[in-house]
Amino acid sequence: MAEIYDLIVIGTGSFGSSTGYYAAKRGISVLEIDSATPPHTNGSHHGETRMIRHAYGEGSSYVPLVLRAQELWNELKRDTQVDIFHQTGVLNIAPKQSSFLNNIITSAEKYELPIEVYDASEARKKWPQFTMPDQFRAVLEKNSGYLKSELAIDTYVKEAKRLGAHEQFNTQVISVDNGFVHVTTNAGTFIGKSAVITVGNLDHGVACSYDLSPDEHVIIDDLPGKKNIQFVSGLSGHGFKFASVLGETLVAKALNETLDFDLSPFLLSRFNS
Ligand SMILES: Cc1cc2nc3c(=O)[nH]c(=O)nc-3n(C[C@H](O)[C@H](O)[C@H](O)COP(=O)(O)OP(=O)(O)OC[C@H]3O[C@@H](n4cnc5c(N)ncnc54)[C@H](O)[C@@H]3O)c2cc1C
Repeated sequence: MAEIYDLIVIGTGSFGSSTGYYAAKRGISVLEIDSATPPHTNGSHHGETRMIRHAYGEGSSYVPLVLRAQELWNELKRDTQVDIFHQTGVLNIAPKQSSFLNNIITSAEKYELPIEVYDASEARKKWPQFTMPDQFRAVLEKNSGYLKSELAIDTYVKEAKRLGAHEQFNTQVISVDNGFVHVTTNAGTFIGKSAVITVGNLDHGVACSYDLSPDEHVIIDDLPGKKNIQFVSGLSGHGFKFASVLGETLVAKALNETLDFDLSPFLLSRFNS
């Protein structure tokens, strides 16, 4: 009889590779499927680096997630000795009334994150390489920086394999059925008790593009009516930094554990109205 995996990861890119890693680390049987061999040049993860910002311009509801994400990136770097995170600081420059800048300041106040705010004349003195009109201001987040994105995925994939994850790469998933989850691919059908769909942008002709939800915020939910199939989508150009925490969270969710985060702002049902 075919092996029944505890979890099948469909799409082993940014979120899938971390999910595979955290599943293997938790000791559950996991199969990672991908249509290519990750990391690769057609994924949203393609390229060397992705920024990680803490005081979040897209809204303060992301801050608890990003702070846990940072802890997990640090942990991965410490455990593997692979230089995944570089704390360079991140400088945000925008018009004073920019909602992105205002969200950064609100997020920092709410979660007591260290930031430095400069008006245009102070910022021009500090960073003479930047030309900045008077109605602009600058916000520096010293604790933020960048992640080595392809290196991170490569590390997750290798570590997951070392911890016992099964791989089925260069395999295209064609359909997913419920019950025990039947994942049909061009290399046969695989069966799992649960599945996570993290296939990212489906426009595979376009290298290094990303998926966009209608409100440009992430969707983390079960497939409608299918409690054992979760999916993540719509990270809309700012999602890589969350890969670590989403991997950990998707595995906890697959195991029906109580979550440390309120994921209600990210449910699909927000589009119902
Ligand atoms: C240019 C650019 C800059 C960005 N900058 C930042 C940044 O600074 N900071 C930040 O946090 N985020 C940034 N992002 C966003 C971030 O890179 C994405 O949100 C993230 O990589 C999405 O991850 P994913 O797992 O959804 O997709 P991917 O990493 O693309 O993974 C999806 C995987 O699914 C596989 N797959 C697809 N279909 C199938 C199928 N049918 N069967 C099997 N496998 C399949 C693919 O091969 C792929 O490996 C940026 C994105 C881009 C494009």
